Amino acid sequence: MSTYLYEVLERLIAFDTVSSRTVLPAVEYLADHLSGHGFKTAIHRIDVLGLPQANLVAWAGPPSPDGLIITGHLDTVPFEGQPGWERNPLQMEIDAERVYGRGSSDMKGFLAQCAEAARTLDKARLKRPVVFVITADEEVGMLGARELAPALQGLLGDIPRPSLAWIGEPTSYSVLHAHKSICSFEVRVRGRGGHSGTPHHGVNAIAVMARVIEALGRIQAELRAEQKPDVADVFPESPYDVMNLGTVRGGLATNVIAEECVLRASYRSLPSTDPLALFDEIKRRISAVDRHDFAGGELIADIETTVLLAAPSMWTERGSRLEKALFEVTGARTARGAQFATDGAWFSSVGIQCLICGPGDYNQAHQPNESIGREALERGPSIMTQVIERMCM
Ligand SMILES: [Zn+2]
Repeated sequence: MSTYLYEVLERLIAFDTVSSRTVLPAVEYLADHLSGHGFKTAIHRIDVLGLPQANLVAWAGPPSPDGLIITGHLDTVPFEGQPGWERNPLQMEIDAERVYGRGSSDMKGFLAQCAEAARTLDKARLKRPVVFVITADEEVGMLGARELAPALQGLLGDIPRPSLAWIGEPTSYSVLHAHKSICSFEVRVRGRGGHSGTPHHGVNAIAVMARVIEALGRIQAELRAEQKPDVADVFPESPYDVMNLGTVRGGLATNVIAEECVLRASYRSLPSTDPLALFDEIKRRISAVDRHDFAGGELIADIETTVLLAAPSMWTERGSRLEKALFEVTGARTARGAQFATDGAWFSSVGIQCLICGPGDYNQAHQPNESIGREALERGPSIMTQVIERMCM
């Protein structure tokens, strides 16, 4: 067991990299370590929602084609206000079986493995480049990767951008080759407020939103009925487009006509479908909703429907060199689809074929007392080195 692996993971967990904060100090820490291990580094500074953020690119090996990208995100989901925590989320704790801390599975454990593999790798033996790509703001729409993907070749200089990427999201080392696109949207209903004693002078926005929700519910039911047999083996749990009503807020008090109600929702479309085609249909159905209050008068509400964020799907054809290497080294025998989206959405959009395979447990991601199994954590650097040997040496 390498103490360096645990040292790096402890330090990474201690950086508070919740997506609403900057990852820059953690990026600088990793850049120092990777350059200390003989990697060239470039910090890609970006501005996300008014906050300075940074992605990190680090590479070794000659400027030959057909190298390998190994990538993970540094940001984490929030822990403040999340019920169930019995440990300090920013302090690594270890027991006989597991290592605890926010991001241990998703996905600082994998990033610590990258540092350990970089340290022990015989860089002089590389025939093709190894490129580590560490991103910001994955958890909030993969915004770091969205900025980085088109800029990657520029940062790499004379190193040809590899066309295969290994994403170490938590999968307990199973291999995933696809995921759906994701689109989040907002529906804003503006009615007219007033005293609840005279409902006919106003329009209750919550009442009109109820009709909107019913229209969306009908779409959900139709989508579920439209199962696509050709992707049943890739997405066995949901071979169809899925939708989720996320948040709803509106109204002031029980005795006030609600003037405004806002719903936020998202859907995930199969890789074969245009992610925004469904949004057009959602808009069309919402525009057909009766905008009168149930017990109101002649007045009608305004409804505005807007896209908040849309990220493409990921689809990598089976049988790539990377798939073969991952199968040989991890013992995985097949690949299927992920239920979640990844940075692979944006890497795919510039022509990089991605596979998802990592040491963390998917059911630990985003959970209180998040942890990673020590066995999976400790064997990771050797898995990574063996994959690099097959791909780049
Ligand atoms: Zn993740």
